[in-house]
Amino acid sequence: MAWLRVLARLSRPSSKFPFSPPPPSFSTAAASFPATQPPSPVAGYIAGLGPTVQARRSRAWWCWIWWAGCRLMKSIDTNIYDVVCVSTEESHGVHPTACFNLRRNPRVSFRCGAHWSDSACISHAPGSYFFLARCAALDPESHTVHCETVTDGTISLEPWKFQVSYDKLVIALGAEASTFGINGVKEHATFLREVHHAQEIRRKLLLNLMLSDVPGISEEEKRRLLHCVVIGGGPTGVEFSGELSDFIISDVHERYTHVKEYIHVTLIEANEILSSFDVRLRQYATKQLTKSGVRLVRGVVKDVQPENIILNDGTKVPYGLLVWSTGVGPSQFTRSLELPKSPGGRIGVDEWLRVPSIQDTFAIGDCSGFLESTQKTVLPALAQVAERQGKYLARLLNQIGKAGGGYANQAKNIDFGDQFVYKHLGSMATVGRYKALVDLRQSKEAKGLSLAGFVSWFIWRSAYLTRVVSWRNRFYVAINWLTTLVFGRDISRI
Ligand SMILES: Cc1cc2nc3c(=O)[nH]c(=O)nc-3n(C[C@H](O)[C@H](O)[C@H](O)COP(=O)(O)OP(=O)(O)OC[C@H]3O[C@@H](n4cnc5c(N)ncnc54)[C@H](O)[C@@H]3O)c2cc1C
Repeated sequence: MAWLRVLARLSRPSSKFPFSPPPPSFSTAAASFPATQPPSPVAGYIAGLGPTVQARRSRAWWCWIWWAGCRLMKSIDTNIYDVVCVSTEESHGVHPTACFNLRRNPRVSFRCGAHWSDSACISHAPGSYFFLARCAALDPESHTVHCETVTDGTISLEPWKFQVSYDKLVIALGAEASTFGINGVKEHATFLREVHHAQEIRRKLLLNLMLSDVPGISEEEKRRLLHCVVIGGGPTGVEFSGELSDFIISDVHERYTHVKEYIHVTLIEANEILSSFDVRLRQYATKQLTKSGVRLVRGVVKDVQPENIILNDGTKVPYGLLVWSTGVGPSQFTRSLELPKSPGGRIGVDEWLRVPSIQDTFAIGDCSGFLESTQKTVLPALAQVAERQGKYLARLLNQIGKAGGGYANQAKNIDFGDQFVYKHLGSMATVGRYKALVDLRQSKEAKGLSLAGFVSWFIWRSAYLTRVVSWRNRFYVAINWLTTLVFGRDISRI
């Protein structure tokens, strides 16, 4: 059974993060919290992890993490840095297909379509921690971050406030769904960003299916309950609509025969759908979506009421499920930071992804953008940008650490070497029914490969599988896809 043990070892995410035992001079006890917490200089905050001393490893700290943070973590040299991660989410990164692939077994559920980061792989190393908490404030002068634990509203605990000192700070906070200030969006729509959003969509949809089957429900109410409206025709909105109509055709039609004529999907977009793809691929996507029953509507949402959407031209659209996917913008926390910003309000960075106005601070992923002074364009909010930035920064931090600049305020005279350069690898989007678009060109005008159909779908799925964090999770995802193909989706409410 040696092969089984090797497989099990490979599947453990810890193999990805080669934390080594601490050097002899470093006592494990010193890395853990003191038994009596010293008072913090900031009222209400416990002084958690204090400043590092030069005899031990420097502390790289980042407020988290998914694409950008995870990629950084994978390549950071833990012989140089102790790693402290703080995030409001333990698992993250939902794909539109996640809502329909969730299964009853929660271990399997979240891995199917939803990426998964194992906090355990960080916190088992002495001196390295994962904190499920929200970063509430930064104090660059004293190199400290103030955090509050996340209690999810389900536990009647007051958030525990603590602070962490750092040598290097990496901000990778991501972005927030944009609502453009439209009334009622936050209250009535479901976003498509986190795993809990996928769960909420699934729950709502299945509840509406069951309610619509109950005797005495009027025709009009049935139609409303089973009208699924998606706002935003970018890749996420299109992928979600395609997957939803797939789910309806292959699973709902079979198991909810009484109401199958009532369920519909409408995708509302202000301009063209998939505007970042070329005309040929856009036309293909439009044809495929229409073929699978998605109604495409050109319109701008003006107001969202509990049961109706009002468009700019006054049209009233009744809905039972409303999914909002109109792009992302800087989060409230990013907006609150008094730092120079890039065009669009992200945290401004220079060519080496540093936040130039403060020492030892970097920003990567959706929360960051090049400062105007760099004369570089702000990169799109994409996983491939975040991932490449994470990889680049890990290399840069390792290089700084090896040159003796790993501690706070020690990197001033160090040569940072090559700047970060982004090369776009292309875009992909699935449109349902085993069809997808793949555009591997640098831009719409450039030459290169662009295709649509089953082969693209296969490329798309394979690419996703390679991005899943560990072999165990890849295995879970592949098995889930297979069982879905053979037995259909699990449509019971979790
Ligand atoms: C449904 C969907 C589909 C997508 N599909 C694609 C695709 O096909 N291809 C592609 O390239 N990109 C895609 N993207 C975009 C891609 O997911 C993002 O660009 C990428 O996740 C950005 O990585 P990040 O590390 O900057 O931020 P995120 O991955 O968003 O991670 C940020 C983390 O910070 C945490 N956080 C936020 N505030 C705080 C705080 N105050 N304290 C502590 N933690 C905090 C959040 O909980 C989150 O876990 C998709 C996005 C969505 C939502």
